[in-house]
Amino acid sequence: MFDNLSEKLDKAFHILKGHGKITEINVADTLKEVRRALLDADVNFKIAKEFTNTVKEKAIGQDVLTTLQPGQLLVKLVKDELTELMGGDVAGINLSGNPTVILMSGLQGSGKTTFSGKLANHLKTKRNKKPLLVACDVYRPAAINQLHVVGDQIGVEVYSELGNDNPVEIAQNAVKYAKEKGYNVVIVDTAGRLAVDEEMMTEIANVHRALNPQETLFVVDSMTGQDAVNTAKAFNDRLNFDGVILTKLDGDTRGGAALTIKSVVNKPIKFVGTGEKMEAIDVFYPNRMAERILG
Ligand code: GDP
Repeated sequence: MFDNLSEKLDKAFHILKGHGKITEINVADTLKEVRRALLDADVNFKIAKEFTNTVKEKAIGQDVLTTLQPGQLLVKLVKDELTELMGGDVAGINLSGNPTVILMSGLQGSGKTTFSGKLANHLKTKRNKKPLLVACDVYRPAAINQLHVVGDQIGVEVYSELGNDNPVEIAQNAVKYAKEKGYNVVIVDTAGRLAVDEEMMTEIANVHRALNPQETLFVVDSMTGQDAVNTAKAFNDRLNFDGVILTKLDGDTRGGAALTIKSVVNKPIKFVGTGEKMEAIDVFYPNRMAERILG
């Protein structure tokens, strides 16, 4: 995960090693390399620039050159700033509804259906909840089947209505069914398209309005870099979602989406997907991720 970024940052800090006395020039060179590493990780230019400017100001503010170990202090400042960039504190999930309704949104292939299963499994096994999964993709029977397969794997019931092509109705019926059967979390998997289009957006906006969910989560493939950030913006403009799910972090992702999505849509990353298995889900901790990046 983010191996390339870690390696480049490590090299940047190497500039400070082996110097008897560190100068302002050494620090400036290091930060230039940090910026380059961020750009290589697919962080956009403006965010990368602001990032190094902030670190520079803090370094000056803390008199980095006069401290005993300026290199270490600079690493710490970068780590703190990476944590901030990724959202600062860990963001929880709101489970206060009765039942709690969680609406999943995102493009086709982002990992929505897989993540719906992972989240149901997580809430069942770690939070002692009784979840119901709902298949609202009325266009692709294969998607409904896929959710049933996932549900069978984790022992969670899947609600679907064959032949009904109205996702708002299906979702509302599912919530009613959940109340009757004593399910306390309803996870609604919706239809995605390959790219953002008006029909999909209108449909999910309608489901969103009808359900008024406690959590609307936007699922995005971390491998898609700045495209992920642009898609997040399009969904957020329409849904004002509550959190982001970054999938496929186990792949060869450069890191741009994880690093910049928060500052673009101002919504936290809540969970990450780290594999195809149902257990491959992690709560997202910005500080742990920053630590991991810096090795
Ligand atoms: P959807 O169209 O948004 O519902 O996407 P799917 O849930 O069908 O996922 C698309 C593909 O990505 C499937 O082959 C999944 O197994 C795979 N996938 C989903 N999440 C992850 C993940 O975190 N890591 C990896 N490696 N693959 C994933």
